[in-house]
Amino acid sequence: MEIISKRVVCLSESQTLAMNQKSQDLQAQGIDIINLSLGEPDFFAPDHVKEAAKEAVDKNFSFYSPGDGYLDLRKAIVEKFKNENNLHFTPQQIIVSSGAKHSIANVIMSIVDDGDEVIVPAPYWVSYVELVKLAGGKNVILNTNVANDFKITPEQLEAAITPKTKVFLFCSPSNPTGSVYKKRELKKLADILAKYPNIIIISDEIYEYINFEGKHESIAQFENISYRTVIVNGVSKGYAMTGYRIGYIGAPLWIAKACSKLQSQFTSGSSSIMQRAALKAITSDNSFCLEMNKVFKKRRDIVIKEISEIPNIKYNIPQGAFYLFPDISAYFGKTDGKLVINNCYDMSLYLLSNAFVATVSGDAFGDPNCIRLSYATSEDKLIKAMKQMKEAFALLK
Ligand code: PMP
Ligand code: GLU
Repeated sequence: MEIISKRVVCLSESQTLAMNQKSQDLQAQGIDIINLSLGEPDFFAPDHVKEAAKEAVDKNFSFYSPGDGYLDLRKAIVEKFKNENNLHFTPQQIIVSSGAKHSIANVIMSIVDDGDEVIVPAPYWVSYVELVKLAGGKNVILNTNVANDFKITPEQLEAAITPKTKVFLFCSPSNPTGSVYKKRELKKLADILAKYPNIIIISDEIYEYINFEGKHESIAQFENISYRTVIVNGVSKGYAMTGYRIGYIGAPLWIAKACSKLQSQFTSGSSSIMQRAALKAITSDNSFCLEMNKVFKKRRDIVIKEISEIPNIKYNIPQGAFYLFPDISAYFGKTDGKLVINNCYDMSLYLLSNAFVATVSGDAFGDPNCIRLSYATSEDKLIKAMKQMKEAFALLK
């Protein structure tokens, strides 16, 4: 008899990870799939980081790490926030976890109770809404579209606030749209939130270093809300260390303490070895990140040029992260003579079986008119993928 808890029955599987798995399974069968589904840099972690990990093994970092992370790592994160973001935390306000996803889960589980409302701008990253559901919260989704660069307005935010609003869950640069809010746009959102002192802001800044606009702007910089803003960040994207699994928060002390308690029962401290590697990444200069950023910008330009040649697709120009989120709804109802494309999921499957390109359907991110392409792959592969997609779109009548 299967007796899975209601909590898990109600949860959806991560569509990004599922599509990546599907693509790898086809690859294993000898089918040449170009995988634009998963969002992870295709770069290797920097050599000095790899050396730090090896050194940690040799120096016997084989024991449990402190529950909240090594103190020197938390102090280094404090310095990073101070020097790069002009934000001021004590080490007690920093909690290191096993990836930014884990950090977000900790924060949501620590502050969201049954029936609490969490405002989430859509398109959103897949895991946000599932984690809110797991905590018993209610997602209040703010829709946007390609025409407004997938950004919410202050009016839209204020209209969604109710006495039950507990959290505003925000991400810039954004996965899946690549939109980056400008400082003046952030200020307007902060000014609305300042009027509602019971709302906690969770700002996911994992794509901080992948930003083609220039300097990263954090919503936590505004003093009227900084004292109740939790910043989520980590080494996965900026340093190409996705598999190392180190994320962190800078949070109000009471939230950090709650996350610490939760983590002490769920996972204990994150991997000792990987924390030493993360310390090296965070305390080294940022030349690796800057180089990677240049490469992503070039790839972004390639993808935009190629997609502009496919008729009837609408898209924004991403200013950060490494995703494009085109609106392909003009193709709904069309067919290649075999399959009718009724929705974005059909489109994603059609592109997988006809263009041999793996994407993720937009409904997983709360926008059923779109699909997501990750351009974190080589230029050659991107050009080939876009050519194959162009041909597949041309067959749809
Ligand atoms: N936030 C966003 C917006 C992401 O795209 C991801 C993807 N990995 C994460 C958080 C989680 O990062 P990590 O791999 O460090 O868990
Ligand atoms: N964040 C990446 C993505 O959106 C990795 C997958 C995941 O963690 O869900 O594709």
